[in-house]
Amino acid sequence: MKHAYLKTQPDEKGYFGEYGGAFLPPQLVEEFERITEAYLKLRKSHEFLSELRRIRKHYQGRPTPVYHAKRLSDAIGGAQLYFKREDLNHTGAHKLNHCMAEALLAKSMGKTKLIAETGAGQHGVALATACAYFGLECEIHMGEVDIEKEHPNVVRMKILGAKVVPATHGLRTLKEAVDSAFEAYLGQLDTAMYAIGSVVGPHPFPLMVRDFQSVVGLEAREQFEEMTGELPDHVVACVGGGSNAMGIFSGFIDDPVELYAVEPLGKGTRLGDHAATLEYGKEGVLHGFKSILLQTEAGDPAPVHSIASGLDYPGVGPEHAYLHDIGRVHVRSATDEETVDAFYAISQYEGIIPALESSHAIAYAMKLAKDVPHDAILVNLSGRGDKDIDYVVDTFGVREWRPEA
Ligand SMILES: *Cc1c(COP(=O)(O)O)cnc(C)c1O
Repeated sequence: MKHAYLKTQPDEKGYFGEYGGAFLPPQLVEEFERITEAYLKLRKSHEFLSELRRIRKHYQGRPTPVYHAKRLSDAIGGAQLYFKREDLNHTGAHKLNHCMAEALLAKSMGKTKLIAETGAGQHGVALATACAYFGLECEIHMGEVDIEKEHPNVVRMKILGAKVVPATHGLRTLKEAVDSAFEAYLGQLDTAMYAIGSVVGPHPFPLMVRDFQSVVGLEAREQFEEMTGELPDHVVACVGGGSNAMGIFSGFIDDPVELYAVEPLGKGTRLGDHAATLEYGKEGVLHGFKSILLQTEAGDPAPVHSIASGLDYPGVGPEHAYLHDIGRVHVRSATDEETVDAFYAISQYEGIIPALESSHAIAYAMKLAKDVPHDAILVNLSGRGDKDIDYVVDTFGVREWRPEA
């Protein structure tokens, strides 16, 4: 069976093994059932799929290329590195792949508005873009602290016509933005849909977002085979919630290809210094789904740290917890320092400034390359680094990257 894995996971209740499901307040149960029913129909609809294909080609600029990073590969002196260039997707990252599809779903359901939370603003900007395209209202909830920190993305959302609602309670960051957005959603169930930004949240979002992102892996598999006549030996992606990783893994999951999920190890292994959820977390329920979570002794979501704001999340998509448990995906990590090193390596040896999130995946791939010198490694370059340049230079200075002798 073609795509056997994708067709059989998750089960009809949204479980990947023991992870996933939908843990919802009673007022939302019916709404999520409606979304599930609508999606399961649209998933097989020729019209929906061909409209998505048209948008991807003519608006987003897909397919994005697969690129052989020959100069960097030669400098490292190991395996050949290839990048799937999601930085060249419209708006500069993979996130628009699921935002456009979520907006098309909302529109098909007769909704006129999308609501979401955003941390650093990347999901907010991608969603505001999709809303502008479809003529939907857009309401983005964001912690007051983040609004101050992420000024350029706040401005982008406003230019794109979105309403940015500050979350003013508690620590005034991502968690409070989620609370605030859900509260607003409860009052507008007739007209609005909540658009989740990764393969997380209650069923059907981990399934839908994975399906919407699978275009990354399906394209890459075909492109890689056309370029080299073979499949890559290894596929590497960074994991925050896990959407870009599930996207690229989807193309190779039924193949004899090693898959690696790279988590941010931040400043080190102490709780609070990293966001390496799969490696250091344990089972729990957060934001409406069961997965592996970084938790304090008391069982609350733990504080997390990463220089990449898109990876700064104490949970992870349930499908990653499952794939880790069954041993299909290897879980690895990269520290802040290794990540900055990779950031400069790609910039100076390939002329591509990568997002700090993607730089985690590249940092691990550069290590792996030395261990498997005859292999080919495909890395998902999930986004471009324009958003990170001021932070990197102010915090770490401009560095010159040189391969180890
Ligand atoms: C948001 C983001 C990520 C992390 O999100 P996932 O759902 O884990 O993919 C990774 N890379 C970039 C460029 C991002 O913007």
